[in-house]
Amino acid sequence: SRTVALVGRPNVGKSRLFNRLCGKRMSIVHDMPGVTRDLISTEVRDDYVLLDTGGIGMEIEMTSKKISVAAEEQVEFAIQAASVILFVVDVREGITTLDEIVAQKLRRYGKHVLLVTNKVDLEENEEAADEFISLGLGEPLRVSAEHGRGIAELETAIDEKLGPKPEGSEADQSQRIRISLLGRPNVGKSSIGNRLLNSTRLIVSDVPGTTRDSVELDLDYKHKDGELLKFRLADTAGLRMKRKVDSPVEYFSSVRTQAAMERSDVVFLVIDAVDGVTKQDQALAGEILDAGRALIIVVNKWDLIIDRWTHDPIEGFKNLKHFLKSYEESLRKEMFFLPNPPVLFVSARTGFEIESMLNVAAAMQATLDMKLPTGKLNNVIQNLFEARAPKIIGTKRFKVFYAVQTGSRPLRIRFFCNRIERLDPGYRRYLEKAIIHEFRLNGCPVRFDLVGKE
Ligand code: GDP
Repeated sequence: SRTVALVGRPNVGKSRLFNRLCGKRMSIVHDMPGVTRDLISTEVRDDYVLLDTGGIGMEIEMTSKKISVAAEEQVEFAIQAASVILFVVDVREGITTLDEIVAQKLRRYGKHVLLVTNKVDLEENEEAADEFISLGLGEPLRVSAEHGRGIAELETAIDEKLGPKPEGSEADQSQRIRISLLGRPNVGKSSIGNRLLNSTRLIVSDVPGTTRDSVELDLDYKHKDGELLKFRLADTAGLRMKRKVDSPVEYFSSVRTQAAMERSDVVFLVIDAVDGVTKQDQALAGEILDAGRALIIVVNKWDLIIDRWTHDPIEGFKNLKHFLKSYEESLRKEMFFLPNPPVLFVSARTGFEIESMLNVAAAMQATLDMKLPTGKLNNVIQNLFEARAPKIIGTKRFKVFYAVQTGSRPLRIRFFCNRIERLDPGYRRYLEKAIIHEFRLNGCPVRFDLVGKE
């Protein structure tokens, strides 16, 4: 991730510099009280996240000895969280012992470090900055955060260290959405597949280079509003030459299921409406989740439920819609461990809602490529901690200083926290569910990657 962190002992002018770089006044800078009172972050020029680590470790008593402890914590945090570190020193004070300690730590990790001598307000300070070369972190950049001197040069230096910004997700949008149908034998996967392939809205073509055993098909689906939705359906071998699989156990462990899963962006987990959720369905759902794939639950053979209802309405329900609602509720309960996926009721026999599957999968693609804005993510997390505090484990509570998205498909969020072991499974689930809810990531798994700094 593109993160730049400011480190340095107190009063060297870190927050002034922070304001200069983000071109904002302190009041609108994103501050994170409670969760991360000790860290301030903001996004600069839509390009990188700037962190002021100045508050880390400062809740402790301020004797000069403790200041050095805090400074070390800040540096350790910055080394883990940032790709570029701005080490700020005060030209008027000269090199202090604490500067030397920090410099030594920074040199050891070989990170991109820019040595920034601040408070070069006067011509005569220019030369005084030379002294800092002895810190072994290169030529000092002479700036005055107060007067804005040398800020442009500093910005250029930061840009150079960060390198060019990687291409955004725009290119990904034209990518085909890779889908597959998974489920127990006889739930109707092949029937659904064949229904889909027979849709008049669909242009189907073979994917060149795929072998007979791992057939993939490209599907171009003409959406009602004229948009062309592009899919690649994995593992369609079963559609064309129906294979007999004797044991369900064999099916689950089969390499083919695994391979189809690996090749998918979105998996349709097909279950049988009459059987409801079985242990095997749950096991397969768990595997899809472990593989980090987005999923949609497809309840097939809904025609049978409608038939049954017409002949013999199920007692205790006002109407079919009422029944459907309660069916979905209990299904969600049995699949509670999933990231609140979309649930579709379909019938391969009648074609009911079969094409909705493609529309829902297409809508999911935007979610898959979502970039969670760092400021908003940290806000959301702060609110979650305020709404429900984590349990005290040992002597302290789990605490997150800073969170940033580090990857997609599956979505990964890195937490810079106090201690990894303090996150209990219940609280982890709470955070997962709430983040999925907050950013509408339904069906898309979220992975936490914890980095402890204590
Ligand atoms: P697969 O093993 O998951 O590929 O399942 P198949 O597509 O072979 O279907 C298994 C059985 O269920 C077949 O006898 C199908 O005719 C039947 N079936 C599939 N979909 C439906 C449906 O929507 N409604 C009904 N009533 N039967 C279905």
